[in-house]
Amino acid sequence: MYKEIKSPEIEQVGDSFGIFLAGTIDGGKAVDWQREMSVTLSTIYSNRKDRSVVVYNPRRDAWDPSWAADMSEPKFREQVGWEAEHMDDCDLVVMNLLGGSDSIISMLELGLLAKEEPMVYVPRMRDDFVERGWKNAARCTGSDFPKKIIVLCSDEFRRKGNVDFICERHSILQARDEAQLIEMIEAHVEEFYYKEIKCKECGTMTHTPFGGDYCSEVCEKKYLAYLNKGLNDDEHLDTSASITDW
Ligand SMILES: [Zn+2]
Repeated sequence: MYKEIKSPEIEQVGDSFGIFLAGTIDGGKAVDWQREMSVTLSTIYSNRKDRSVVVYNPRRDAWDPSWAADMSEPKFREQVGWEAEHMDDCDLVVMNLLGGSDSIISMLELGLLAKEEPMVYVPRMRDDFVERGWKNAARCTGSDFPKKIIVLCSDEFRRKGNVDFICERHSILQARDEAQLIEMIEAHVEEFYYKEIKCKECGTMTHTPFGGDYCSEVCEKKYLAYLNKGLNDDEHLDTSASITDW
């Protein structure tokens, strides 16, 4: 499932993986990369029933340049409030900094997010990212990784040096180009849906990318056959009969 929510829309989306599109807007003058990214992600996730991805797009269709960037302007407050709230609530902030822009608000946000606590640490996530050769993945010691933000910064961005420095210092993943940025997003979505479960039948700890209660189809079949005999969960776990008698 895929859904794009644009400022100032408010919507409850449940347990979806939420992505906030931060980065260059320049009052609407910059290339609309947010739209392109939304189309790409929509192509990937629209037909996936086992993945639910929501994109928060701060770029308004109808932003009136006469609205002052001042706290006394209700439209301004609405916009920055929407952005702050969704940046806090989302699972991943994707920051794309384009050449020819100063993107000063993005610099402010990068500073905030660089200092934010890392997501729940998953060792194999780091190893996977290092193996893929993603910039700054190998610098991370584990407890400070992964950060909630990933960055793509154009070589033409005026302050690229500062961005590179902050990303390196705070172990923030940096994409080489848009294709790699999409790869990074997909990897984060997969991690979000990657769960460790205890097989209801044999008790083995296992990973299942699609949720569920069993390590294998065989275990599922055994367990269901057992339940069909009218026995409850406790009786099932108390006996080895479940392994052979089905
Ligand atoms: Zn099992």
